[in-house]
Amino acid sequence: MKIQLETKDIIIFESSLYRTTSTLIDSDETIFLVDPNYLPEEINFIHKKVEERRGGKKLVILITHADYDHIVGVNAFNYDELITTEAFLTKRNIKKALYDLEAFEQSFYIQRNYELSYPVPSNLIKENEQIFDFKSSKINGLLTPGHTIDSGAFLLKSFKVLITGDYLSNIEIPVIDDNLEDYKKSMSLFEMIIGNEDLNYIIVGHGDYSTSKEEILERIKLQNEYLEMLEQNVYHGKNFDLKFLEKFPNPIAMRDIHLGNIKNLKR
Ligand SMILES: [Zn+2]
Repeated sequence: MKIQLETKDIIIFESSLYRTTSTLIDSDETIFLVDPNYLPEEINFIHKKVEERRGGKKLVILITHADYDHIVGVNAFNYDELITTEAFLTKRNIKKALYDLEAFEQSFYIQRNYELSYPVPSNLIKENEQIFDFKSSKINGLLTPGHTIDSGAFLLKSFKVLITGDYLSNIEIPVIDDNLEDYKKSMSLFEMIIGNEDLNYIIVGHGDYSTSKEEILERIKLQNEYLEMLEQNVYHGKNFDLKFLEKFPNPIAMRDIHLGNIKNLKR
């Protein structure tokens, strides 16, 4: 499996599917594992890495949102706690999330050595910047709806790490399954955090992590440009030049996402 980064404290794994990342943060008493995914061999690989480092440490799973690519690996791990947003339980259409997971699995005849189910959180992010205290390390939970209603993000100040979920990707236009207004607010929240916090790593759900605030600000600019063009197109009838999508590495797939966004904005 591809590893984007491996240091004493941090491993960023990258799946061959959608370039989805899983992040491991190794602190003194706790191992944090974010969105473990996707293919069975990849999950096994991540599992081995966790076991190599675990010893007597607690394993805490952090989930950014209930899309199938972010929840698929949870049940492969014998974890102590699972943190995600409150909306993951209260607002997300759980039946649909499970159906989407099962449908994707079946479309590739994927076999696993564990059962798939909707993860049961032990702790919920109920407000922005809510702090979860794990002795030597703290996690700030963030609420970032817009991509999905239950989207969240994690700031680990002691590691200078921000994990954004499906925002700020360098390979994907915004995917708006929830709503545009919330998406824009979440973008502003990220912009504020990136401006205020001392960060070494900004880790995104799909594509490459970044160590550079300048580079992330460029991404934000491009993502906002898309949001503006989309809004002008859907609400003011302006032409959307599909050439814009060629700024991303998979323009054919981006076109499908774009058409999905238009449909969602019009509903
Ligand atoms: Zn995703």
